[in-house]
Amino acid sequence: MAIRAMLAVSRNRSLATAVLSRYRFISTLVLAEHEGGSIKASSLSAVEATKSLGEDNSVSILLAGSGPSLREAAQAASCHPYVSQVLLADSDKFTYPLAEPWAKLLHVVHKKGNYSHIVTASDSFGKNILPRAAALLDVSPITDVIEVSGSHLFVRPIYAGNALSTIQYTGSDPCMLTIRSTSFPVASMSAHSKSIAAAIEQVDLSTFSEDDAVGKSKFVKLSSQDTERPDLGNARIVVTGGRGLKSAENFKMIEKLAEKLGAAVGATRAAVDAGFVPNELQVGQTGKIVAPELYMAFGVSGAIQHLAGIRDSKVIVAINKDADAPIFQVADYGIVGDLFEVIPELLEKLPEKK
Ligand SMILES: Cc1cc2nc3c(=O)[nH]c(=O)nc-3n(C[C@H](O)[C@H](O)[C@H](O)COP(=O)(O)OP(=O)(O)OC[C@H]3O[C@@H](n4cnc5c(N)ncnc54)[C@H](O)[C@@H]3O)c2cc1C
Repeated sequence: MAIRAMLAVSRNRSLATAVLSRYRFISTLVLAEHEGGSIKASSLSAVEATKSLGEDNSVSILLAGSGPSLREAAQAASCHPYVSQVLLADSDKFTYPLAEPWAKLLHVVHKKGNYSHIVTASDSFGKNILPRAAALLDVSPITDVIEVSGSHLFVRPIYAGNALSTIQYTGSDPCMLTIRSTSFPVASMSAHSKSIAAAIEQVDLSTFSEDDAVGKSKFVKLSSQDTERPDLGNARIVVTGGRGLKSAENFKMIEKLAEKLGAAVGATRAAVDAGFVPNELQVGQTGKIVAPELYMAFGVSGAIQHLAGIRDSKVIVAINKDADAPIFQVADYGIVGDLFEVIPELLEKLPEKK
């Protein structure tokens, strides 16, 4: 009110506009992914990132899909301390994260809520949907944000992480962002919970036609590794194998080592392209970005595109038979040696996992 009164007496219209836009109410919509009744860690990082957009930021979280797990996830989201509203799009049109119906959903939800910001994680889910939604809303998204310096000021890596660029968003609302979850770590959800849950509201899908649900892409199948290993994006330890492993059969040594260490398995693009392991394990510029406490690289040369994905690791250990391999320039510890000798020795000396 005080600001408005001050502006009422001001004859300078441009000053009024500038001040008003500076104090403009921030309301953020977080596009979240859920699994097994929980919000995925990467989406919780997206919620975490909204904290730096400004004080008095009202955060709504959008969840879509169908079935009991959606409702469980909504309950969990409603207990998050930063979330003031949970929006639920309950329809089998959103069972699979296909870009067309989900982008249309974001468009519909934004038209009703008129958010200043829309944020999602920079994972395959967010990177698939956000650009299409941005096109529908006629704005230019800012991707891979690693730091939120203000409501419209962001830092993102460029040149495969070799330089950081600070970007001021000057476009119209909504300001759409994908954030790197490794840059916005979160405490566990239970540590976050609040006693009074946020309201859960159903999204009105009456304007959503059958055509909106059918796009150029269609869901074929989901194939993922049935494993108890930690998720690569959030693991404390990552053991990565490169082309130096030479075959899918040899790569099993990396998996055994990861099992003993309770680690996630990663791979270089060369190892993925050679068919040693599936694409979902690729680490790097065009794969997953990791930030573990310990990153172990076996038979990995250290190409810049691979390093772009491991820069935030606390300790990097490299094993390579070539002493001049670039990986040694970023490694904290290294062994110049043959991985076919080093891994069996490690497997022998490390205690069995209890
Ligand atoms: C646009 C673009 C995006 C890319 N994105 C990615 C990405 O996201 N992730 C990624 O990883 N790459 C990416 N790449 C590919 C990248 O440039 C490299 O080609 C790739 O990372 C190399 O993988 P590598 O280290 O396994 O293989 P190589 O470069 O062939 O290195 C193999 C290493 O193994 C060592 N070695 C061999 N045998 C042994 C042994 N017995 N014991 C110990 N060491 C041994 C060798 O000395 C060598 O250093 C991208 C490339 C482009 C152009």
